[in-house]
Amino acid sequence: MSSRSHYDTIVIGVGSMGSAAVYHLARRGQNVLGIEQFDIPNDLGSSGGMTRIIRLSYHEDPSYVPLVIRAFELWRELQESAGEQLLHPTGSIHAGPPGSPIFEASLRSCREHGLSHEVLNGAEISKRFPGYRLPNDHMGVYQEGGGFLLADRCIVAHVTAAQALGAEIHAGEKVLDWEVLADKVRVETDRSIYLAEKLVIAAGPWASKQIPLLASVAVPERQVVGWFQPLRPKLFTPEAFPVFGLVAEEGRFYGFPVFGVPGVKVGKYHHFGEEGDPDELDRDLHSRDEDVLKTFTKRYFPNAAGPTMALKVCMFTNTPDGHFIIGTHPDHAQVMFAAGFSGHGFKFSSIIGEILADLAVAGETSHNIRLFDPRRFSSATREQGQR
Ligand SMILES: Cc1cc2nc3c(=O)[nH]c(=O)nc-3n(C[C@H](O)[C@H](O)[C@H](O)COP(=O)(O)OP(=O)(O)OC[C@H]3O[C@@H](n4cnc5c(N)ncnc54)[C@H](O)[C@@H]3O)c2cc1C
Repeated sequence: MSSRSHYDTIVIGVGSMGSAAVYHLARRGQNVLGIEQFDIPNDLGSSGGMTRIIRLSYHEDPSYVPLVIRAFELWRELQESAGEQLLHPTGSIHAGPPGSPIFEASLRSCREHGLSHEVLNGAEISKRFPGYRLPNDHMGVYQEGGGFLLADRCIVAHVTAAQALGAEIHAGEKVLDWEVLADKVRVETDRSIYLAEKLVIAAGPWASKQIPLLASVAVPERQVVGWFQPLRPKLFTPEAFPVFGLVAEEGRFYGFPVFGVPGVKVGKYHHFGEEGDPDELDRDLHSRDEDVLKTFTKRYFPNAAGPTMALKVCMFTNTPDGHFIIGTHPDHAQVMFAAGFSGHGFKFSSIIGEILADLAVAGETSHNIRLFDPRRFSSATREQGQR
């Protein structure tokens, strides 16, 4: 395969967002190069660990709902063209103590957008889905449209479809620097130098290494997920066990039925709050990582709390308000970026690829991305210097 040195658009990072961006750019006839420092797919950034929840009820803000509806459409299209199932429906439950924002705001998003849903208390949830053992007075929203995506396979499907459209993708190549020349962008890697008309940066936890002005607003954080062998496996199949988000005394947790790994998957949002440099992340696993997940599982899903099958380290990239950062670089109209997905971005990656392609090709998008405007942090980002 011939390698050019000049492209319409270069995408830095071929994880979930970058793979989707490369695909949507190629779909629009662009000569596109995607550059990934590790393997494709890899589990060293934010997209490892096999599965990611997708849900329509959106307690973070109802304005995510139209975006997730479009994301669903794009996932269905992608799985059809890939010829493999990427999206696994299970239903979703978002629950917490009465009056908790996870319940109230999930319900509000369903009502505002006319999503079919049921309100169930803890006792009703446990009766209908016996893998659950929530306090009787907890309140939950069950939404039948939820489920999970196979994260690695989604990235592979986007990359494969992009390649079929002529996109060039390089793995094992690290971007060292980029600069805007008069009417071009120059990208230097550990292997070569490339020129492009436009640059899209989708570097996940490494975002601020490419865009230093994001340093205080896109902050990497260590996460750990665990898989525990169910004691009663029939209660934890994708047919019997909806994915969940649960606020409990112990914090906010999420989980999945058994799929791919012989265990129920459980994670705690923000885990131990360990922020830091993604290149210096503690990738070792410690007993306290396992304990916090196992203790929670024993209490709320006792029949899932068998022996540990797997534990994996991953990274969130948090913003101060928990919303994404998507837009054009404040100083360089040729440079677009998508960062700060704050632990809930994967499900949107299909539409974020479309949005990034809109911004790169047309300079605007018809999707409502006001919530993600990079300028909302302008006083914080300005202090970080010129780029
Ligand atoms: C444990 C965990 C559970 C999660 N659960 C959910 C969930 O259930 N549902 C959901 O919607 N979201 C979830 N998320 C969030 C979601 O996974 C992330 O928002 C999403 O994966 C972010 O994608 P990304 O493309 O920004 O980052 P990544 O997928 O990490 O991609 C960034 C890529 O850029 C590459 N890169 C960086 N710098 C360079 C460079 N200099 N040169 C070349 N390449 C570079 C990296 O190697 C990496 O591959 C979860 C995240 C974690 C960690």
